Amino acid sequence: PQLANQIAAGEVVERPASVAKELLENSLDAGATRIDVDVEQGGVKLLRVRDDGCGIAEQDLALSLARHATSKILSLDDLEGVDSLGFRGEALASISSVSRLTLTSRTADADKAWQVFAEGRDMQAQVQPAAHPKGTTVEMRDLFFNTPARRKFLRAEKTEFDHLQEVIKRLALARFDVTFNLRHNGKSVLALQAAHDEASMARRVGQVCAAGFLEQALPIDIERNGLRLWGWVGLPTFSRSQADLQYFYVNRRMVRDKLVAHAIRQAYRDVLYNGRHPVFVLFMEVDPHAVDVNVHPTKHEVRFRDSRMVHDFLYGTLHRALADVRP
Ligand code: ADP
Ligand code: MG
Repeated sequence: PQLANQIAAGEVVERPASVAKELLENSLDAGATRIDVDVEQGGVKLLRVRDDGCGIAEQDLALSLARHATSKILSLDDLEGVDSLGFRGEALASISSVSRLTLTSRTADADKAWQVFAEGRDMQAQVQPAAHPKGTTVEMRDLFFNTPARRKFLRAEKTEFDHLQEVIKRLALARFDVTFNLRHNGKSVLALQAAHDEASMARRVGQVCAAGFLEQALPIDIERNGLRLWGWVGLPTFSRSQADLQYFYVNRRMVRDKLVAHAIRQAYRDVLYNGRHPVFVLFMEVDPHAVDVNVHPTKHEVRFRDSRMVHDFLYGTLHRALADVRP
């Protein structure tokens, strides 16, 4: 099973950022309202994710490191309507097979916390008592310490950290209701307070996006035919170097979709924002029955029932808004 885990690890665990994505999604699935991420050396030396979610019971702690152990799917029916972020039960097993992993957790009704440790091939089966408030801390150290070939593919510390930070930014824009803190080598990099009103949501967007974005962006909020589009679209005055500032969410899930990209690009082009990469933070809200976000669990694809209508809505809304402010 260890070999199987390492093979699976190749799919799930590519670099610190992919570990961070799995751990943060677990925290969100656990109902966390606050997530603290501590990183050393780009996440290769240390990646610690601490949450205040539901925790893992003592008897489930060792099991949660086993492959295909998930608490999130009880039957095949669940596979259809799965709304948790992870559901394959592979992440923790894969991560622990290529690192040194400590899992510490406490549920609300437990009188103490418990801890389990795994190092590459060797899982220390013994579950030990530990000190921890309600919630879970996953501490991953020395990524790929036992797979040097994989380790060689890691990039410079800054590159790995940038990827990791991007993962957190994407999730932070999906979950305004959750507090996120990110520290790198002992320094605070992101401190995002839970945001429940428009002003504090806008503040978070400003913190997450490049400096100056909010000031040079057009706020959008349109509702039509049961579709709502809100957020910010960068104006041509905004620095053209931010080609990667493209965040699009469908029902709070980040999406990278050809149809969406096409509609936005087309609207930009047709208002003569020539040669400009569109920059945007946009949220679309649609009836969950009109969209299938689970086309592929790790890709950011989405399938709309009525894609023509969605395309026209996006194009029309953005075209009108941009045309109104054309210089
Ligand atoms: P999956 O998320 O696909 O179920 P994982 O390997 O990511 O599989 O996690 C295995 C199990 O460990 C989860 O189903 C969940 O029960 C538990 N778990 C992992 N992380 C957390 C967490 N932060 N809080 C509570 N439970 C967790
Ligand atoms: Mg998971």
